[in-house]
Amino acid sequence: MTETLVTSGAGRPHGQGAVTPPALMVPVLPSTDAIAPLLREIDGRHVYANDGPLTRRFCAELAAALESRLSEPATLHVMTVSNGTVALELALRLRARPGRLVVMPAYTFIATAQAVANAGFEPFFADVDLNSWALTPAVAEALLPTLPEPPAAIVAVSPYGAPLDQRAWNAFEARTGIPVVLDMAAAALSIDAVGRVPACLSLHATKMLGIGEGGAIVSEDADLIAAARSTSSFGFEPGNRLAGRRGGNYRISEYAAAIGLAALAQVGEKENRLKVVAQTYRRHLGNAPISWQPSFGDRWVAMTVNIGVPGERADTVTAALDARRIPWRRWWTLGCHTHPAFAGAPRSRLDLTKTLAPRVIGLPFHELLTEEQVQFVAETVREALA
Ligand SMILES: *Cc1c(COP(=O)(O)O)cnc(C)c1O
Repeated sequence: MTETLVTSGAGRPHGQGAVTPPALMVPVLPSTDAIAPLLREIDGRHVYANDGPLTRRFCAELAAALESRLSEPATLHVMTVSNGTVALELALRLRARPGRLVVMPAYTFIATAQAVANAGFEPFFADVDLNSWALTPAVAEALLPTLPEPPAAIVAVSPYGAPLDQRAWNAFEARTGIPVVLDMAAAALSIDAVGRVPACLSLHATKMLGIGEGGAIVSEDADLIAAARSTSSFGFEPGNRLAGRRGGNYRISEYAAAIGLAALAQVGEKENRLKVVAQTYRRHLGNAPISWQPSFGDRWVAMTVNIGVPGERADTVTAALDARRIPWRRWWTLGCHTHPAFAGAPRSRLDLTKTLAPRVIGLPFHELLTEEQVQFVAETVREALA
């Protein structure tokens, strides 16, 4: 890609702070003008909710968009829900086998643990792999014999939107009989070989396919998606007023679906703009002693950029960023096990999580960043590591 970022043209005397420190994250959702034609459809139709025509169209178009990104052709089924956390809860309720524990990585956004708990299970915090930052099938397989009891399910998590080896997770489920649910909340555009193992997506404003608040479940298992749709709608079966199963109301409105259709139409361009920003970061940090998630900015991009810095230098880097008023964040803190609400949850030793989590630093990342701003952040990191 030869594209470059906008330059402010201001010219900055080196190190004198003439660059405006960038914001950490700036979500950009479809404009009012892009949504308006869809809202007029709603005005004319007077259908506002209950899996209406725009919601159905959004599910179909999302399925088609995801199918077009698969490495091998497959038919995907999609249902939408009110957020990504609920998508995980529903998928677990429908797929977990009897049991108490759900294995999940300690290194994830706390929503994963909350969803496990809300679905009626106790999270068991597993370690991650240092290269991918994810709980992999290999890590899970090694953990299984050490668990106090057989788990009801496993939730694997896409770290910051990276692709997961979905084929390997389907094979893991087939081999072990342990149901797998994938938290791909930030990875809507990174899904590949879906199989039956559901991928749970977030459509939150801070995710690639942001609609404000929303979520989706994607699977090749049509029955699972139909059951999830029923569960999200009081347990009703299609065309019936009798609840065939226990459920609740986890639906999105037609207004949310309208934003989703407008967002889908633009998401490819958004992805390309963010890839340019990601590659600008990689160029300016080229010689720094940091690690990147595999193929970040090349094969995939998401709404955050996270670098792994050498452990003993993490405080130096964050202090240098603070000194220049550059915002940064450990988006996933030091792991779910460090949150008071889950302090008592069972876990493995988490040696690699404890090594990884303090080193991962989220830098400013959004589509409005200028070349100077990226250079300013990158220089700050490089100087702190020099
Ligand atoms: C965003 C996110 C969630 C939660 O999604 P919501 O739509 O905010 O409920 C869950 N897990 C991960 C990894 C996330 O990044």
